[in-house]
Amino acid sequence: MTSPVWHPFTQHGLNEPIPEVVRAQGALLHLADGGTLIDGIASWWVTTHGHCEPRIAAAIARQASQLDQLIFAAYTHAPAEEVASGLIDMAPRAEGQPELAHVFYSDSGSTAVEVALKMALGYWHNLALDGLADARSRILVLEHSYHGDTIGAMSIGERGVYNAAWTPLLFDVGTIPFPATGQEQACLDALEAACADKPAAFIVEPLILGAGGMLIYPAPVLREMAAICRRHGVLFIADEVMTGWGRTGTLFACEQAGVVPDIMAVAKGITGGAIPLAATLATAPIFDAHVSTDRARLFYHSSSYTANAIACAAAAANLAIWREEDVLVRIATLADGIAMRLARLTTHPAFANPRQLGTIMAIDFVAPDAGYLSDLAPRLRSFFLEHGLLLRPLGNTIYLMPPYCVDADQLDTIFAALHAAGEKFGAQP
Ligand code: PLP
Repeated sequence: MTSPVWHPFTQHGLNEPIPEVVRAQGALLHLADGGTLIDGIASWWVTTHGHCEPRIAAAIARQASQLDQLIFAAYTHAPAEEVASGLIDMAPRAEGQPELAHVFYSDSGSTAVEVALKMALGYWHNLALDGLADARSRILVLEHSYHGDTIGAMSIGERGVYNAAWTPLLFDVGTIPFPATGQEQACLDALEAACADKPAAFIVEPLILGAGGMLIYPAPVLREMAAICRRHGVLFIADEVMTGWGRTGTLFACEQAGVVPDIMAVAKGITGGAIPLAATLATAPIFDAHVSTDRARLFYHSSSYTANAIACAAAAANLAIWREEDVLVRIATLADGIAMRLARLTTHPAFANPRQLGTIMAIDFVAPDAGYLSDLAPRLRSFFLEHGLLLRPLGNTIYLMPPYCVDADQLDTIFAALHAAGEKFGAQP
């Protein structure tokens, strides 16, 4: 019988195999047919410490029999309070910049971004009601960005085949060119010029654009982007959905630039990747603009599962791991291991443009049809599956983003498969 399940980002018409996973531990996925896969992309960039991390699994089990779910409009619970305080303590800080002081929960990266946009426009709307500013609504974005798949998140992302069907629903944004090597100043100049038109906010993926192709840009550019926004009174939103929780070598990517955003979206690794939860952090002025005795000014956003207690308990356990274990040391060791193996791989003529930021590594396959729809992607995917690897190339870009517990032998297996892929597909037109 064919399955009734409709999978995301899956072309069912190609009848590609859809492996069934029955168990996961550390960096390994155990398949129904008895095989195993090394999870080279942290199951869509969410699994940080490793699958079924014991402290997080235990916290979920405990919470599930104590308090599972609670309406979060004007009610609260201890795990949500603990995580909010922890997030504020751990959030990026810098001398002379307002601190992130408030936490709004949601349940995915896309919703964390939607909330960020709604906070930004709500801020300007409420200031305008008081005659303190003009209402602002335009959003500036970086070329090649990805912020999620809901309508608002798609609107602020790169337009392409993945959102073409919904173009009529997407709102217009101002696009700032990506600061590719040699183009940094052009990017900053474009931002400066766009800020003069009084947009509401500028949203960026800090230091690395993920789904846009693992495109890296330098910390001083990020710092200068934030400074330009501050000079013009434009809200600076950091989407740390992919970059957060150590992926780039620091807990949050903004730390490397000494930037405290006005609004910051986090999700994915907030629970160590065990269960969905997201949070949007905001500075006091954003929160205060919504505080009033007038009920019409409250922040109109919610979903049924906002701050689900089981998810918050998982996040609390994750925060405890970050506080009590040497996660950053583990990450630095992993980053070194990746760098050493990547250096050997780059000598292969099948590959170009090697790049790495923390635990994220990417390399482009030299291909005649480079781009998201490159024919190589599905062929590489099934090649890696045959070699015991979960890797999911972005077109002709192969990237690696493993759980931090992946060991040296597993890394060797991954890089041997990358080398074999170079041998097999590099010679073909
Ligand atoms: N923002 C960024 C930078 C992302 O990489 C992603 C997902 O990959 C999202 C937002 C959307 O997150 P989610 O898939 O949890 O909705």
